[in-house]
Amino acid sequence: MRLLLLGGTHEASELARRLAGRADIEATLSLAGRTSRPARSPLTTRVGGFGGVEGLTRYLRENHVEALIDATHPFAAQMSAHAVAAAEAAGVPLAVLTRPQWAPEAGDDWREVGSAEEAARALGEAPRRVFLTVGRQQAGAFRAAPQHHYVLRSIDAPEDPPPSVELVLARPPFSLEDELELMTSRRIDMLVSKNSGGEATQAKLEAARRLKLPVVMIRRPPITAWTVLYSVEDALGWLHGAAS
Ligand code: NAP
Repeated sequence: MRLLLLGGTHEASELARRLAGRADIEATLSLAGRTSRPARSPLTTRVGGFGGVEGLTRYLRENHVEALIDATHPFAAQMSAHAVAAAEAAGVPLAVLTRPQWAPEAGDDWREVGSAEEAARALGEAPRRVFLTVGRQQAGAFRAAPQHHYVLRSIDAPEDPPPSVELVLARPPFSLEDELELMTSRRIDMLVSKNSGGEATQAKLEAARRLKLPVVMIRRPPITAWTVLYSVEDALGWLHGAAS
């Protein structure tokens, strides 16, 4: 069976590892090409956009793809929407592989917002020391709130960070100990995060809880695909079903 796996996440890498060497599934991993040094994959890998819905539909047809798994990041909404439309046009079964969202615990002070722009406004007027963990692509939205000092962590450096910024370039996973150290040494008083879910970056929430810091949490875009899988095991099961 020919599978196209849309990746760029820990879950996609994990599924790629489990599919490597399987004689019954010929899988190709697709990456957007955003990070300068992506983690190595054992699968055949293609890099770069397809050229919208049309381009992806063409790719699915020309390569005789028989199953499509969208394991992109929960905030990669455009790619996910294209996957839904192209899978339908090409008649290819599609499943989304994602992670459960994070939820606040008793005593947590979460301020949920719908976008990075709204998150920047939710920081308020008074200058704060903000731990900004929304990724490189959305850092620019915080230029609209230049009164705050940002400790901005991302894998690669953002092109347009806010003016008062310390860049921390690092790749997950992050431990609770490291998060506590980072937040206390920088005297952070607010955390901004996307509700990405997953274990690799969850420790910052526990650290904020222990330090009693408010969290501005950007809500996830909705999932529009019909089939949603929450584990690599479930994805392997779905592939088994799609093949038979
Ligand atoms: P996006 O806004 O949904 O996608 C923008 C365009 O990038 C898509 O229309 C597509 O171009 C191309 N693209 C995205 N993912 C692709 C993939 N896996 N393979 C080939 N082309 C892809 O996506 P994004 O938010 O920029 O994310 C880009 C990549 O980074 C994704 O693979 C995602 O899993 C990963 N990532 C994103 C985030 C995040 O917070 N957004 C966090 C961690 C990792 P065409 O229209 O030309 O096909």
